[in-house]
Amino acid sequence: MKAVRLDAIGNLFVREVEKPVPGPNDLLVRVEACGVCGTDRHILHGEFPSKPPVTLGHEFCGIVEAVGDKVTTVKPGARITGDPNISCGLCPQCLNGRVNLCRNLKAIGIQIDGGFADYVIVPEKQAYEIPLDLHPHHGAFCEPLACCLHGVDMAEIRAGSSVVVLGGGVIGMLTVQLCRIAGATKVVLVTRQAEKRALAEEIGATHSFDPSSGDAIEGLVGANGLLPGGADVVIECAGVPETMEQAPKLAKAGGTVVILGVMAAGDKIEIEPFDILFRELRVLGSFVNPFTHRRAADLIASGAVKVEKLISRTVGIDEAPDVISNPPRKGEIRVMVLPNG
Ligand code: NAP
Ligand code: ZN
Repeated sequence: MKAVRLDAIGNLFVREVEKPVPGPNDLLVRVEACGVCGTDRHILHGEFPSKPPVTLGHEFCGIVEAVGDKVTTVKPGARITGDPNISCGLCPQCLNGRVNLCRNLKAIGIQIDGGFADYVIVPEKQAYEIPLDLHPHHGAFCEPLACCLHGVDMAEIRAGSSVVVLGGGVIGMLTVQLCRIAGATKVVLVTRQAEKRALAEEIGATHSFDPSSGDAIEGLVGANGLLPGGADVVIECAGVPETMEQAPKLAKAGGTVVILGVMAAGDKIEIEPFDILFRELRVLGSFVNPFTHRRAADLIASGAVKVEKLISRTVGIDEAPDVISNPPRKGEIRVMVLPNG
């Protein structure tokens, strides 16, 4: 079968590999769709730890073709979405319920062969069944949605909250929708591209803002801005220094900042500790998807979170390395790789 292999940092190719065989607790899944994520680009450039040689692709869904002897909860023919993040269940963090902080965390598509392939092996405990009548590409949004859901849970959004979401990629677009579902009445998506601002307003943002149109801080939270005095919650979903530095300045006193965007390890930004102290800001990091995958899958299966318009284009497996090696095209939100056509 074909697979998108990261041979070494910076080296990504489609290769012919053996079709995998499921172990006793595993499912063999024929991949229907696997999304290209910002994190795949970070992995390729060595900015996010991986373990080459490995097949990339951590946002996948597909049909179970075969199951191992010990599998009891999933049957061949079912459609599943995979939670790629595998915790050990034994380390102090796991025993404390912080599975995403597991010392031995491994991820399908990052350290273990993933979904940019005709088939992927998924341990039974990482598989979440989704309806067969769902659009075959939509299940591939469960993983990014589960990450956003963890961030939105951490933000403790309440009915009537105001939120600024920075960055109009897929993470920002999903976060905007979750904030509305969680009860926020004002949700402002900040992103530079006009197409993305228009899309955000179509799918749930109450307002959008162009950060290149002038002073973003003044325009958003100044006296005549959209949210004078600041937002209850700011969620950083761009992963660039500019938005990381803006995030605390956009929160109101006593507000919450959640960092979802990834900056490379070692990169630094300027913050003003006095401001965090004096205005009692809560600044929280949100890493992956602890116990949120089931809810994410249900939000997609029910249609409560809309994903169709987030698919900018679909490509075959041969085009995947090129897509991952290049920055997203103008206006592009999510490219979906369809290994089996
Ligand atoms: P993405 O497609 O690169 O989206 C980020 C968006 O930010 C871009 O589309 C860009 O849109 C916008 N942006 C860039 N500079 C900006 C600025 N100065 N002001 C406002 N917006 C700006 O990436 P993604 O897939 O949505 O992922 C977002 C981040 O989350 C990435 O860093 C990814 O690694 C990370 N992530 C984290 C988790 C987690 O568990 N925490 C999970 C998945 C992904 P415009 O060109 O329109 O500005
Ligand atoms: Zn991802």
